Amino acid sequence: MYIAKEDRYEKMIYNRVGNSGLKLSALSIGMWYNFGGIDVYENGRAIATRAFDLGITHFDLANNYGPPAGSAEMNFARILQQDLKPYRDELVISTKAGHYMWPGPYGDGGSKKYLVSSLDQSLKRLGLDYVDIYYHHRPDENTPLEETAEALDLLVRQGKALYVGVSNYTPEQTRQIADIFEAKNTPFIIHQPSYSMFNRWIEDGLKDVLVEKQLGAIAYSPLAQGLLTDRYLNGIPEDSRANRKTGLWLHKENVDETIEKVNALNLIAKERGQTLAEMAVAWILRDGIVTSVLIGASKVSQVEANVKALDNLTFSADELAAIDKVLKG
Ligand code: NDP
Repeated sequence: MYIAKEDRYEKMIYNRVGNSGLKLSALSIGMWYNFGGIDVYENGRAIATRAFDLGITHFDLANNYGPPAGSAEMNFARILQQDLKPYRDELVISTKAGHYMWPGPYGDGGSKKYLVSSLDQSLKRLGLDYVDIYYHHRPDENTPLEETAEALDLLVRQGKALYVGVSNYTPEQTRQIADIFEAKNTPFIIHQPSYSMFNRWIEDGLKDVLVEKQLGAIAYSPLAQGLLTDRYLNGIPEDSRANRKTGLWLHKENVDETIEKVNALNLIAKERGQTLAEMAVAWILRDGIVTSVLIGASKVSQVEANVKALDNLTFSADELAAIDKVLKG
């Protein structure tokens, strides 16, 4: 029987999400990869429980995570049942809808019809009465923002989600939906954008909106899916994401294109006394705008390694300049 470590809250940092009362661990675990029906259940279970023992309280899901779609939620339900259920009130569990989930006109997008029914399905798969955060996964140009906001607001009023968020929204879309939520008094507290040293789009307007609207942010793919680690320094390992046969969002070419910069960044990290993965996590937290870094992990050891980032979160101006130079070079 799993019993959580008593010292689990001693080292982790908890950051407040925007101007809400909710705090998130500085690192969170995402279940896009490695928790699906095709993966080894016991490995995902070990990652989740080890993460919790290290003070990570936030687990991020989506209706379509797997493969097959839905299976990550079902596996997480099993982990809850076997291990984490006694700690439910110590966890922040999120899910999303916005990508294709089922056939026909109602299983994709941002309509009220889709978002309401998808959360009902997610809650059933998760075996939960409510999620802590429910996200619209991506903007949908065929649905008015008012309708999407109304659906999320309704789900909060029904008690099926405590807070709501959006993901992949542009700065302008974020500002607009924030205004709609404000008028409704909806607890819209967080944006989930991609963000890493290799993907700095949020610095071009979105960070300003987050500050202006007092929103939190959780950065996904912070390690550029593994590129910003030592994973590919000596070629492409057999068991790595770039070598996977399913869910192909990272390619061998991405490794080839970035390896020179990765080597240069790795040297800067070494000078800081960190691994590249640690530096990549710390860099995201450097200005206090991002609340939590949403990592993925295929092994328990990766979670343990990434949490060590918290030992050194400060950057000198010279270090930041050296990193910028590599990234722009
Ligand atoms: P990361 O950038 O953290 O990549 C994770 C991968 O990096 C791991 O699976 C592993 O790859 C490798 N890795 C992690 N730590 C280390 C380490 N210390 N040393 C070496 N390799 C390491 O994030 P993800 O791309 O996995 O995304 C994280 C989460 O973000 C998702 O699970 C999901 O919850 C969310 N997300 C949200 C999206 C959205 O649209 N809202 C889109 C994408 C993700 P390997 O398998 O090779 O071991």
